[in-house]
Amino acid sequence: MRKITFIGCLLLGMLPVLAQQGEDTFGSLVEAEMKSAWQISNFTANQNTANYDVLSHVLEFNVDPAEYYIEGTVTTTFRAKTFMTSITFDLTQQLSVNSVIINGDIVSFTQNADELVISLGSGIDENTVTTVIVDYEGEPGFSEGAFTIDTHNGVPELWTLSQPYGAKDWWPCKQDLNDKIDNTDIYITAPSEYVSVGNGLEISQTDNGNGTTTTHFQHNYPIPAYLIAIAVTNYQIFTQTAGTAPNIFPIVNYIYPEMYDFITTQQLPLTVQMIDLFEELFETYPYHEEKYGHAQCSIGGGMEHATVSFMGGFNRELVAHELAHQWFGDKVTCGSWKDIWLNEGFATYLSGLVVEDFDGEAAFTNWKGGRIGNITSQPGGAVYLTDTDTTNVGRIFSGRLSYNKGAMVVHMLRYKLGDADFYQGLKNYLADPDLAFGYAKTPDLKEHLEAASGTDLTEFFNDWVYNQGYPTYNIIVNHWGEGQVKVTINQTQSHPSVSFFEMPVRIRLSGSGGAVQDVLLDNTFNGQEFTVPVNFTVTGVQFNPGNDIISANSQAILNTSEIPALQRVVLYPNPVTGTLHLQLPQGVLAEQAVFYNALGQKVMETAKQSVWNVSQLAHGIYNITLTTNSGTTQLRFVKQ
Ligand SMILES: [Zn+2]
Repeated sequence: MRKITFIGCLLLGMLPVLAQQGEDTFGSLVEAEMKSAWQISNFTANQNTANYDVLSHVLEFNVDPAEYYIEGTVTTTFRAKTFMTSITFDLTQQLSVNSVIINGDIVSFTQNADELVISLGSGIDENTVTTVIVDYEGEPGFSEGAFTIDTHNGVPELWTLSQPYGAKDWWPCKQDLNDKIDNTDIYITAPSEYVSVGNGLEISQTDNGNGTTTTHFQHNYPIPAYLIAIAVTNYQIFTQTAGTAPNIFPIVNYIYPEMYDFITTQQLPLTVQMIDLFEELFETYPYHEEKYGHAQCSIGGGMEHATVSFMGGFNRELVAHELAHQWFGDKVTCGSWKDIWLNEGFATYLSGLVVEDFDGEAAFTNWKGGRIGNITSQPGGAVYLTDTDTTNVGRIFSGRLSYNKGAMVVHMLRYKLGDADFYQGLKNYLADPDLAFGYAKTPDLKEHLEAASGTDLTEFFNDWVYNQGYPTYNIIVNHWGEGQVKVTINQTQSHPSVSFFEMPVRIRLSGSGGAVQDVLLDNTFNGQEFTVPVNFTVTGVQFNPGNDIISANSQAILNTSEIPALQRVVLYPNPVTGTLHLQLPQGVLAEQAVFYNALGQKVMETAKQSVWNVSQLAHGIYNITLTTNSGTTQLRFVKQ
């Protein structure tokens, strides 16, 4: 029963907490999430744990933040998925198992480097529910850096960060991404001068009369092993109330005493408003029957442990990001690394929604501009990962692609679909019983947004999620007679994987006296022309005024030179199926129109007519020779 004090196993580094309140938050946040995932690169789920389903864990830990040591008793109830003669848990060999008990009997077991293998005697049948109690102790494993002791202000602290596969460093578990644990009880026994933190609701504190206190937490939502975490130090607790009746719940914040005043008065009050916002936009906080909370610890960035995020600092962006993960990441978890944007793109976008709600549209436009600047700093890169990408952790946790481009793609879905359909689709996605408290992949999101909006998003996902790059627009606006302008939209692409980005394009027209009119033009092909009614003389034009589209080096030019009347003759709609209209500038009158098909054959001729029924014409391209009182001009249209 040796005890060795180990100091300084800090996977994530010891960034001074106050230094993280500034602009560098996003970088440290991405870095922390990347480092924590670094360990996964060589990981494949242990097939020896695939033959059972974990129903519940009772985790009893005896720790002291001054010592790198753990004594644990883990009681696991599981259902056999097949006939089993042994059960395997993931557990580092650095921890010594003292005994294993099933049904009151001591049973035999073996340990190898990363496994605890327990004999089930003559075997148990499929669907049998069995409870096994493992008693163990020792120095937690070092390889994943999941169990850390440190000090703050000279006081010992202990915290865990298992993501993605470090739980085996400190308790016998099953680590994969398909079997969530249905019910979890955590009992933390620690010296009585400290406060203990775990997932779920605090049920009780028991003074053991020997200088230690046992704190019992209970979490009754499905949870993967990597989101189970504990922390112990001399926390001062700051409790808030959040939610909407009847789903009121506490926010329990565990804060270093030396920073309590600043954090609780300057930073944490905003959490309540953020929860209100996310509940209003999406749905009730997923863990409203228990709690939300923060536990301060010496990590760079944060980690979204279910019901209690572990925080290196409390700036608004970081608080919003980790809170957002409770819906997007914890409740619905990305089903593979290719789909990482379902976690990180959404958490990043939701921190932008906080900017929009708290600071207003101008600040949000600015925020989107910052994302776009980073995304377009390179010409290529997709949101969705290839198989090759998933072997590169730096690529998986790319701030430019998985976080920022992911966030802006989420925004462009909102821009394209409109708020009502966008939010309804996301509500349905979060509530889908196949996804809620489980796992989701990119097609699951696409299907929900398509169903809510009635819009086929195949082209959008191909262009913006699966393929690479972004468009550069060249837009020309011409004065076009009384009360209208003609807008011509041209586009090039930064990467050859996309031939054209079909997008609604917003253009802001402005005139004297502060006159402003925004128009949204559904741009589906290159060189497309639009005639736009406007009730003032346009003197200025701006492309993408809300920074809604990922784009760089785009320009919109107002051409104020007088356009000859005959060049302002327009056919609409074009393409046409039934009735074709002629739009003529003031003073111009149609005298004769001769229609020719693509072979140059005359198919129709009319006099003094400006509306035609062309439904009888075959599909194809047609030319019209139009004679007017001002001269003759050639027009072209497509019959669909
Ligand atoms: Zn994140």
